[in-house]
Amino acid sequence: MSSHPSPTTAASGGPRPATRASRVLVLNSGSSSVKYQLLDMRDSSRLAVGLVERIGEETSRLKHTPLTGGRTREQVGPIADHDAALKAVATELAADGLGLDSAELAAIGHRVVHGGQRFTEPTVVDDAVLAEIERLIPVAPLHNPANLTGIRTAMALRPDLPQVAVFDTAFHTTMPESAARYAIDVRTADEHRIRRYGFHGTSHAYVSRETARLLGKAPEDVNVIVLHLGNGASASAVRGGRCVDTSMGLTPLEGLVMGTRSGDVDPAVIFHLQRVGGMSTDEIDTLLNKRSGLIGLCGDNDMREIRRRVDEGDEQARLAFDIYIHRLKKYIGAYYAVLGRVDAVAFTAGVGENAAPVREAAVAGLEQLGLVVDGDLNAVRSGEPRLISPRDARVAVAVVPTDEELEIATQTYALVGESGGSGAGLGEGNA
Ligand code: ADP
Repeated sequence: MSSHPSPTTAASGGPRPATRASRVLVLNSGSSSVKYQLLDMRDSSRLAVGLVERIGEETSRLKHTPLTGGRTREQVGPIADHDAALKAVATELAADGLGLDSAELAAIGHRVVHGGQRFTEPTVVDDAVLAEIERLIPVAPLHNPANLTGIRTAMALRPDLPQVAVFDTAFHTTMPESAARYAIDVRTADEHRIRRYGFHGTSHAYVSRETARLLGKAPEDVNVIVLHLGNGASASAVRGGRCVDTSMGLTPLEGLVMGTRSGDVDPAVIFHLQRVGGMSTDEIDTLLNKRSGLIGLCGDNDMREIRRRVDEGDEQARLAFDIYIHRLKKYIGAYYAVLGRVDAVAFTAGVGENAAPVREAAVAGLEQLGLVVDGDLNAVRSGEPRLISPRDARVAVAVVPTDEELEIATQTYALVGESGGSGAGLGEGNA
């Protein structure tokens, strides 16, 4: 993901001998892609990162970068399925002396998008956990099947190793019912498991904690509004380290204006498009998820391009930018009210970390709330967590680069690390 800071390079001289298993492989399996990182949890350093794209096509591509020395390697050619993809990744890792058969591998951590209400913590995968992730497919039809495929493939490759599922929704399971429930008929909602689940949870967890660290405080002592602004975008209100509200809902469609998703719309827009516009459910789904947001408003979903057009006086791009900012500001105000006291507002992900004009505009006019951005600090480009508000500001405004892979690895290792990665006695899962 482009939003991430450059991976930390391990000390040169190749992988070090471990006294006990300390490596974690993080897998993020999409429908036609697998992103991976191998980390050494003794110092959270990256040993290798890579990506397999276009799985199932003739032009699949594997890009592998060892960070223990050596260059990025790329191969293009058919990779039939996730099984073949993971085997190709294993071959690449083995070529760097980092093979998946290594005794130093403690666990494999998997990103799983939807954990429903049941998975509130990272969980060691067993048959019951697999069945529950499968049961959630109706609420995450695009993501959970691919995540499951990744887990099953990894299990077949290393059946002895703990496989840990880290859920995008888990951080949000602390939301009170008043925030998590929609105001629709309770029986219908419960029957269909309709509620606010929230997503990007590993990012919101990581960034809210890192923001506390930046302020020199314990997470329990700070209230933070986290703005994860990537291609997908979500806001969350975090009180004392626990999420109390978030902008994405049953699916990642609700909330902020995103690259290609509409975010909030009146639900009646859907009936109108059906009854009056003659569109099918699938067409409306595609419209709202893929042809709306910034791309629907101005034809571009990359904030760099939109800013370039705004600077050239392009009215359509200007309006798209203004709509994006207006929505963002509404959520900052709403979560300010939800939290009552706010210690920090943290910007993260591709847009949040890089687009100074977005940060400036989102906070402009909120001086009465104690929110001010210092122009010089905001203009600094850096991969480090940093404050962009003046020293004496009532509320800290921060840029905090997210690192979902590190968070998945950390949570995975915390769960299995103590056992030395043997997996013994970890078959239950703590769902
Ligand atoms: P995701 O993980 O949701 O795909 P990212 O967090 O990687 O998204 O963010 C991608 C987005 O970040 C791009 O679409 C682009 O709009 C934005 N972005 C990246 N770099 C910059 C930059 N230098 N200036 C403005 N926006 C940027």
